[in-house]
Amino acid sequence: MKLESLQAAEKKLLLNTYERNPYLFTSGKGVYLQDENGVEYLDLLSGIGCSALGYGHPALEEAIIAQTKKLLHTSNLFFHEHTAPLALRLTEISGLDRVFFTNSGTEAWEAALKLARAHTLDLREAGRNIGTKFLALEHSFHGRTMGSVSTTHKAKYREPFSPLIPSVDFVPFNDVAALRAAFSSDYCAVLIETVQGEGGIHPVSQEFLTAARELCDSTGALLIADEIQCGIGRTGKWFAYQHYNVLPDVTTIAKPIAGGVPMGAMLCTEEAAKAFHPGMHGTTFGGNPLALSAAIAVLDTIKRDGILEHVTKVGTYFIDRLNDLAKSHEAITEVRGLGLMIGVELDDATLAGDIARELMERKIIINRTSETVLRFLPPYILETQHVDIAIAALDELFTLHENPMSNQASPVLAGDTTHA
Ligand SMILES: *Cc1c(COP(=O)(O)O)cnc(C)c1O
Repeated sequence: MKLESLQAAEKKLLLNTYERNPYLFTSGKGVYLQDENGVEYLDLLSGIGCSALGYGHPALEEAIIAQTKKLLHTSNLFFHEHTAPLALRLTEISGLDRVFFTNSGTEAWEAALKLARAHTLDLREAGRNIGTKFLALEHSFHGRTMGSVSTTHKAKYREPFSPLIPSVDFVPFNDVAALRAAFSSDYCAVLIETVQGEGGIHPVSQEFLTAARELCDSTGALLIADEIQCGIGRTGKWFAYQHYNVLPDVTTIAKPIAGGVPMGAMLCTEEAAKAFHPGMHGTTFGGNPLALSAAIAVLDTIKRDGILEHVTKVGTYFIDRLNDLAKSHEAITEVRGLGLMIGVELDDATLAGDIARELMERKIIINRTSETVLRFLPPYILETQHVDIAIAALDELFTLHENPMSNQASPVLAGDTTHA
């Protein structure tokens, strides 16, 4: 079998950074992936939130094929036809003024951190007293490069790589009093995932985001919203911060923006953008014509097909069904989410791992994050009938775990209650 030979080859050839699930996908259509044997899997993870339009979406395919035939790359030394049109769309939907294109989320985040540092020079020149520290949140995740891990909370991601960039402090998530107590003019930026993703699907509270905005305004520090996972329609609005009526100075996007083609961007206000001058920051591939043509197709499809409303409708249905499920299964302690960014908290990490794996065996793809949380990041084109399939499978699996004997035909185990 192809999977086994690839597994053996990878074991020898690749760095040991991923414990991959033993599945080999070779194609996809709509919300389904197909493995090497043609078996279909309902995908409720969309490549960690990237394949927003599902698989084989005609508008995205056509844009990529057309651009591939014309031109793949020219570098940022020259103009190309998609840069300004995509930047215009992004500024219109975000309420921010300027755009820097990157290849990934972590590069967008690095750009934001560098912008915040450079911005302090402008502030000090204008006579304001501002430091260079970053104020980040506990359980945050901002990526894997040095600056990004320095602002990421989890010890496992940080500690092997120390010394990291200094001057990053963490405050407890959604603790307004702790934020107010920690904040001072020593900080050049406050860093917030509007909905924490990797940390277990935790939306920031209105009070916390409003307080962060006020504190930043009081010193000139930048409020930076990481929307790499929650932005671009995932929560039913273009940007998750639009649920709160709070505009950050800077935001970062990536995962779904180009529908699976690697791409990211940092967006910021006119005022913050002044900190970067020619040559201060750059990228060879970032903003390349292929990625940008894909992003334009994604944004135009979301708009044309009313996909934000669809995400809200199906997301609400999904969360409602999960809350129903929680009523009949004690292991579910909380359902959290906004739109199609959903987390189901279980009372046990082993159980969460088991349920994720057993769903996979039943041809439904999700993942476990933050130990105890089942994470759902389905394609935006998910329909309620797909939700019903997932809910039925979850209901069955939780029931099996509650009554481990009910499905055991083994006569030896039938009378043995020690494992009940
Ligand atoms: C995935 C993610 C990143 C990192 O993006 P990469 O493209 O993997 O570098 C940063 N922030 C958040 C919130 C993310 O979910």
